[in-house]
Amino acid sequence: MSDKPEKFIDENGLRLDGRRVDEIRPMKMEIGVLSRADGSCYLEWGKNKVLAAVYGPRELHPRRLQKADSVLIRYRYNMAAFSVEDRIRPGPSRRSIEISKVSREAFEPVVLTHLYPGAVIDVFAEVLQADAGTRTAAINAACVALADAGIPMKGLVSACAVGKVDGQLVLDLNKPEDNYGDADIPMAMTSDGEITLVQMDGDVTPEEFKKAIEMCKEGCRQIMEIQKETLRSKFTKLEDVDISDDEEVDVSSIVESALESSENDVEDEEEAEVESGDADQEDEVEDADEDLDDEPESEDDEDEDLDSVESHSDFEAVELVEDFEESFTDVDEEDATEDEDDEEKD
Ligand code: UDP
Repeated sequence: MSDKPEKFIDENGLRLDGRRVDEIRPMKMEIGVLSRADGSCYLEWGKNKVLAAVYGPRELHPRRLQKADSVLIRYRYNMAAFSVEDRIRPGPSRRSIEISKVSREAFEPVVLTHLYPGAVIDVFAEVLQADAGTRTAAINAACVALADAGIPMKGLVSACAVGKVDGQLVLDLNKPEDNYGDADIPMAMTSDGEITLVQMDGDVTPEEFKKAIEMCKEGCRQIMEIQKETLRSKFTKLEDVDISDDEEVDVSSIVESALESSENDVEDEEEAEVESGDADQEDEVEDADEDLDDEPESEDDEDEDLDSVESHSDFEAVELVEDFEESFTDVDEEDATEDEDDEEKD
């Protein structure tokens, strides 16, 4: 772990990473990054990297865990072993269990839980790289992932921390400020400013606490804009492939070009046949072409053509005619026997 800095805020009012006291770290989000999850979001916030995935709503097993009047939301916050300087022991810890509980309670109020009684929504937040503020980062990503999964919500929840260093309140603590500062107050709130999470580590006066809430509100407002923009990006991607009214498809030109290409195909096929066939076939095709180009055929030509047709199918034709005639004779014979029987009866 790095040593405690002598000063957190310089004479120009700038922090160690060059931010002002009321400035959040640069944040970017990407939605729908996991194809097997129903909703997902990847978030980078300063040096924090967090991946959130949502599965559900789906039927909950075992059934005894089902809630009769609402959906069950399960949230798991987990820090990857490689996410911090000193490797973390994999698996749940006292810290991660506590963060999972309070974070779920932070976004649960905006989810319309009554719509899916007996079902479960699983939310996973994996911290891939940590640099302070990971619980708030995970809440921000989880909310976008929930929206990406199409879970009906009243609105979004945004989260951010306020702390105290060098006797001053600062928004969105970085790692040295978090580790060596005088206070750390992570908060989450809805777009109406309703606080859904507040924790405090350290000491602040009541006035400072009130100011911290106001600072956090402003931070959350900025974060919510980024969350909304991320959600919008999902739908603008779809709009890009839409055909607007101005760009109507010219059906007639498509049909014409299709016909042209099919004509060309026929010509090509003929050419291909000529090329691949033997000399006799070539002659036949040429004859056929000539016949098509020529004036009406002479009677002799016609007879010749008919002869050639008959010569191919003489045998089958004779068989067919015989069958046809036989079928009639059978019927006649049956009728005749029936008549005879009737006469005998009379
Ligand atoms: N941290 C760490 N090892 C741990 C827990 C935390 O190195 O086991 C670091 C990590 O960078 C984390 C920061 O300490 O982001 C602050 O942790 P805190 O418990 O305050 O939670 P956070 O601010 O991340 O929500």
